[in-house]
Amino acid sequence: MKKRLQGFIVGLILGVVLFTGTAATAANYQALAATFPVYINGAEWQTDSPPIVIDGHTYLPLKALGDVLGVDIQWNSALFRVDITKPEEIVVISDQGNKYHRQNCPTVKKVKEYVTKEEAAAMGYEPCGVCQP
Ligand SMILES: [Zn+2]
Repeated sequence: MKKRLQGFIVGLILGVVLFTGTAATAANYQALAATFPVYINGAEWQTDSPPIVIDGHTYLPLKALGDVLGVDIQWNSALFRVDITKPEEIVVISDQGNKYHRQNCPTVKKVKEYVTKEEAAAMGYEPCGVCQP
């Protein structure tokens, strides 16, 4: 019986330490409304959920930001997580060489084909060392 009581007390103390440790960590964050605008492609971003600043870092609503950037962001309630799907990146293959490039690579003189990065790799092309797609 004495051993059970000791185990309970140790468990209780451990629980209190863990709980207060978590509470202390959470108490260190202070969210402030951002006092500056956010621009996307030169236009001020208007949103119902304004950005906040915590410890000098700006936080934006994930779903709204995904919508603006063309990234699919979904709440997966079955797995209790956020799923982010990036759009496929389009790269170019030039009419010379065995590399694929970003669309603005200065080494590309004439575009042979626009393909996804995965398609370029499957075709045997390698990433350009200059533009690093
Ligand atoms: Zn390149």
